[in-house]
Amino acid sequence: MKTLKLDNTVAVVTGGNGGIGLGIAKGLADAGAQVVITGRDAAKNAAVLKDLQALQPNCRAEICDVRDRTAIKRLFSHVRETLGPVDILVNNAGIAIGAPPEAISEADWDAVLDTNLKSVFWCCQDAFEDLQDQSVSGHPGKIINIASLYSTFGGARVTSYSASKGGIVQMTKALAVAWAPNQIQVNAIIPGWINTDLTQAVQDDPDFYQNILARTPAGRFGEPDELAGAAVFLASKSANFVTGVALPVDGGYSAG
Ligand code: NDP
Repeated sequence: MKTLKLDNTVAVVTGGNGGIGLGIAKGLADAGAQVVITGRDAAKNAAVLKDLQALQPNCRAEICDVRDRTAIKRLFSHVRETLGPVDILVNNAGIAIGAPPEAISEADWDAVLDTNLKSVFWCCQDAFEDLQDQSVSGHPGKIINIASLYSTFGGARVTSYSASKGGIVQMTKALAVAWAPNQIQVNAIIPGWINTDLTQAVQDDPDFYQNILARTPAGRFGEPDELAGAAVFLASKSANFVTGVALPVDGGYSAG
């Protein structure tokens, strides 16, 4: 399908040097997008860049801590100077710090909310001018925010994470409404339990792991590459009339 192609587009994937972000970045590059992955760790960026460039030679990697507003602004102006205006923004960078609510420190609360929610808003705001400038690629602007099953379900040790991810779904709807007239579509993906560094501790805990498998109709964790199809669709012209949705990619977890 031609409308799933992303040739001549520029995409930024925050936290694109591993896990779900890398799975999505590979999918976008394979569809033709010039993908800029970001992360804090230069070694992680370098380790995956060649694979992305094998799919699309113009792919780049940039250091950017999304908790640093100045770094976000610098990122978007550098991408614009080198590749052109951003067409696709995937807000994927995220962390979780598990603790019972009565024991969460202010520093940990801020780290989770700043990384998972506040930074997403600044990335959207700072990319807005680029996303609505469709003069180069002719591609409507696309924002894809990575939410979580904890956007809707509670979890005893993930109060800050749940608050941040619940906020992502609501913020996605608000931005979708605000920027529909600018031909910018804003959607979220709700990954189920995916095999990444973030979930390693859970996978190493036999009781928790078995409980997740039992609650997931597919009976397994997903792999990062399995998020790519939904991301390519939402990034593509096929989704030009799709905005404000949160699409589960979860092996049936939220349907059960
Ligand atoms: P990983 O821990 O594997 O990857 C996290 C990524 O985020 C890394 O690329 C990391 O790069 C980057 N990152 C973290 N903090 C920052 C920061 N301050 N600035 C810039 N980059 C940062 O996690 P996942 O791939 O599992 O998670 C990706 C997203 O998916 C997150 O938003 C997570 O909440 C969400 N999610 C994950 C699920 C899962 O089951 N795995 C389920 C539902 C949602 P670096 O270290 O270089 O900074």
